[in-house]
Amino acid sequence: MDDVRETMRASPPLAATRPRIAVLGGGPAGLGAAWRLAKEGKAVVELFEAGARVGGNAGSFEMEGVACDYGSHRLHPASDPNILADIKSLLGDDLLSRPRHGRIRLKDAWIHFPLKPVDLATKLPTPFAASLFLDAATAKVRAGKLVPETFGSVLLAGLGRTMCESFYFPYMKKLWGLGPDALASTLAKRRVSGSSLPKLMRKIFASLPGLKSPTTGKFYYPRGGFGRICDSIAGAAMEAGANIRLNARVERILIVNNRVCAVEIIENGQTVRIDADAVWSTLPLTTLVKAVGTAAPQDVRDAAAAIRFRGMILVYLVLETDQYTEFDAHYFPELSIPISRLSEPKNYSGASQPRGATILCAELPSDPGDQYWSMDDAALGRALYEWLGAAGLPQSAKIRRAFTKRLSHAYPVYDRDYERHFSTLDRWIEGVEGLLTFGRQGLFAHDNTHHALAMAYGAVDCVKDGVFDRAKWASHRQEFLTHVVED
Ligand SMILES: Cc1cc2nc3c(=O)[nH]c(=O)nc-3n(C[C@H](O)[C@H](O)[C@H](O)COP(=O)(O)OP(=O)(O)OC[C@H]3O[C@@H](n4cnc5c(N)ncnc54)[C@H](O)[C@@H]3O)c2cc1C
Repeated sequence: MDDVRETMRASPPLAATRPRIAVLGGGPAGLGAAWRLAKEGKAVVELFEAGARVGGNAGSFEMEGVACDYGSHRLHPASDPNILADIKSLLGDDLLSRPRHGRIRLKDAWIHFPLKPVDLATKLPTPFAASLFLDAATAKVRAGKLVPETFGSVLLAGLGRTMCESFYFPYMKKLWGLGPDALASTLAKRRVSGSSLPKLMRKIFASLPGLKSPTTGKFYYPRGGFGRICDSIAGAAMEAGANIRLNARVERILIVNNRVCAVEIIENGQTVRIDADAVWSTLPLTTLVKAVGTAAPQDVRDAAAAIRFRGMILVYLVLETDQYTEFDAHYFPELSIPISRLSEPKNYSGASQPRGATILCAELPSDPGDQYWSMDDAALGRALYEWLGAAGLPQSAKIRRAFTKRLSHAYPVYDRDYERHFSTLDRWIEGVEGLLTFGRQGLFAHDNTHHALAMAYGAVDCVKDGVFDRAKWASHRQEFLTHVVED
């Protein structure tokens, strides 16, 4: 093809032990890998990101002087200490330690979230609290009777009917668009850190004075938005010699004789071919298989067609007031309110500026083609304000405007068949020389940013003298299975 430029030909000569690695995707996983590979001198790295800026779902943007994230994002103190130390060293004093100050709506009452024993005892309606207590007392009996086959049955056994029906089941139906028995049991293990009453109680009582650690009830947040974590990693990666190419959409991954050899990207309207010894993809698995095309066997393409990601519309409201409420986030488990969470970005960093304006960000789980996806921004803004009113939240501030962002890959959908399809994809990728996939979208993992970074660090750890150690990677993959999402 005439319009294909082979850019690596212009690259400086390579040391024999430094492979050329093309990293696909500039979210935390891709950036973390590019940085560590370059810093440790293990590869010549080029990263390709389709968007105009780095960060993926963990990025930020500025609107009306307010730093906004793509939905509520916090850096959790549960992060691996090495990763936390790296982020602290990159951001310095700009990484703030902030108190969590959210609320959840349970049985028409607003309760502090994360849950606190005093709130549970004093604010919940008495019959509801009594049912919760009864469920706790009978947990052992239930666990013996229920076969934990689905998300629904695991949580019913662990938490009992009251908590499941008033909170987890409607919330999960809203997030995934599927009922509790259509979802895989794995979801309960990976997505619900308090999936049994003893675990939940441990979490709740860990907030009591004397039992709490210095980080209980706290989170880390960068001044200027969550995306500054990725911005700072990108800066460090470039300083270490990695080349980061924005607005560079990966269209094809070329595999010859079962070995990956190049990628093709669209950049400035042109197709550009980049030769590579290895391709490390953090793209959605579905995108990866599409980019490989018929070089992937039919059963692999079928498996990719059978898995899916849940989308999300982020509805932002610009309000003409300094602060909407004092809370950082509100959680809405009930199905009658279609949003799952509302955050006020200024409250995450405790910013007092700008005066006279604040922004709300509502997370509306949705898929292309459903009733919300095609609604325009103004209509979604109006609907949001009505939902807030229905939940008893203030409606007095003047709305300056509403705007939206649409995430096509917010959550991997763990339906009851996903594991079978994922295994087919995983086995095939494992067998292609030079091809690696990781990150939230690449390993179809429910994860936090620190987990995506842990995957990146794990991958880099496997490179020695230009060779990727697959056995070591398999052992890191086992560690990744222990990742549990923090909300
Ligand atoms: C609503 C929401 C709230 C969250 N809250 C938190 C939180 O509080 N704390 C926390 O730690 N984590 C949170 N997360 C999770 C966090 O966003 C992810 O863990 C993180 O973004 C995963 O990073 P990643 O690099 O694996 O994937 P992504 O961030 O999805 O990055 C993938 C990148 O690949 C790029 N890409 C896709 N296709 C192509 C292509 N063809 N060519 C080139 N580039 C391409 C995308 O543009 C993107 O930049 C939340 C996620 C969501 C959706």
